Amino acid sequence: MHSAILKTRNLLLAGLFLLFACQEQESEPIHIDDVVSAPAGSNQPLKGIGGGVMMQAFYWDVPSGGNWWDSVKVKVSDWSNAGIDAIWLPPASKAQNGPFSMGYDPFDYYDFGEFNQMGSTETRFGSRTELESLINSAHDNGLSVIADIVINHNSGGASQANPFTGTNTWTDFQPLSGKFNRTFYDFHPNDYHSADPGYFGGFPDLCHHKTYVQDWLWKTDSSVAKYYKNVMGFDGWRFDYVKGFDSWVVNDWMSHAGGFGVGELWDSNVNTLESWANSANVSAFDFAAYYAMNDAFDGNDLTKLNNDMLWKRNAQKAVTFVTNHDTDEIWNKMLAYAYILTHEGYPTMFYRDYEEWLNKERLNNLMWIHNNLASGSTSILYTDNDEYVARRNGWNGPGLVVYINNSSNWQERWIETNWSNTVIKDYTGHSNWEPTTQSGKWVKIQVPPNSYSVWSVK
Ligand code: ZN
Ligand code: ZN
Ligand code: ZN
Repeated sequence: MHSAILKTRNLLLAGLFLLFACQEQESEPIHIDDVVSAPAGSNQPLKGIGGGVMMQAFYWDVPSGGNWWDSVKVKVSDWSNAGIDAIWLPPASKAQNGPFSMGYDPFDYYDFGEFNQMGSTETRFGSRTELESLINSAHDNGLSVIADIVINHNSGGASQANPFTGTNTWTDFQPLSGKFNRTFYDFHPNDYHSADPGYFGGFPDLCHHKTYVQDWLWKTDSSVAKYYKNVMGFDGWRFDYVKGFDSWVVNDWMSHAGGFGVGELWDSNVNTLESWANSANVSAFDFAAYYAMNDAFDGNDLTKLNNDMLWKRNAQKAVTFVTNHDTDEIWNKMLAYAYILTHEGYPTMFYRDYEEWLNKERLNNLMWIHNNLASGSTSILYTDNDEYVARRNGWNGPGLVVYINNSSNWQERWIETNWSNTVIKDYTGHSNWEPTTQSGKWVKIQVPPNSYSVWSVK
């Protein structure tokens, strides 16, 4: 009875976590903590994370049945050709809800669909062999693979008498992998922490201060971090729900495991995002940019794009995104993609936007623009409620001018470019103009209704 109640509650909590849970970085001197080298036998070296576009290779709820890894595998070649440089996978190990789980209720960090527990051998996404095959295919196509790391809470333990609470708690973890057995000593409250700073309902939260927990999560050769990197072949980390624990946890993980890292710190406050990213020594999803875009595009006020954002503070640590598996609020998504794919920060492409909902040809065009033209610092040239014009000032390349129009009319405007006496064109093909800039770099550009144009040297 308790177990059924707990499961129902955990499902609800899993949903709540998603609200909190869950996106990239870019041009110039790319910040890559470790330049990852290609594994033996791969066809091409990894591109390195951050110069292209990250694909969030899942959504909430992808089809169950154990076919997701195979479904993604057949797409990695096309994604790589389109300019993707890394794929972010959902939490890949066995969770409490077994074949139905999206992975955010972790039980056995080392069961990737290999052991019959929690109701199935395979995970919702497939078998360990299928996951390994996907990772190999991604590497063969130059793509890095980012693991989703859920280390705030655990789920699915058996009940045991807990001396720290004086009650029974679901803190007895004996996973079939035989790795990282856990008891009440490893969760809050315990002998180290009498209270749980991030206590969240029925989920026992790991105590990251315990040496035993640190050893299993990131410090020893058989730790989760080392196993994911050295045995499974993951190249980077997306840390779930980092509000639940201190930033030194991620910092210490990174110092032991290396690779690219990005944290999901669900907060619109730029100071909070920036200071967390600095102290954790990883990137952060740019929730400030996300909320500003939401206000700008859906609130019909493009001056909101003047708001402070993480990429404006530190582009090397900002992962920009339009939507993710937890939230899907911005309706004028093509304009938002035109924004993040022409601006600084490491942009994320959401699976469903790319594969199902938006025009793939248009997105491919924007990813090409991002990877080939969108370099250098950013100057905002003009904003009002329905128009936004910005310039990328170029870095080992010409840069660009992007013109976004959220009105129902064609618009045109004189702007100052990077170039004198130069023929420019709209690389989106939305306008046929091929004007020549004046000696003082000024030129008149245009943009169709509810659309965007991107100008650079012809
Ligand atoms: Zn999430
Ligand atoms: Zn603790
Ligand atoms: Zn206007």
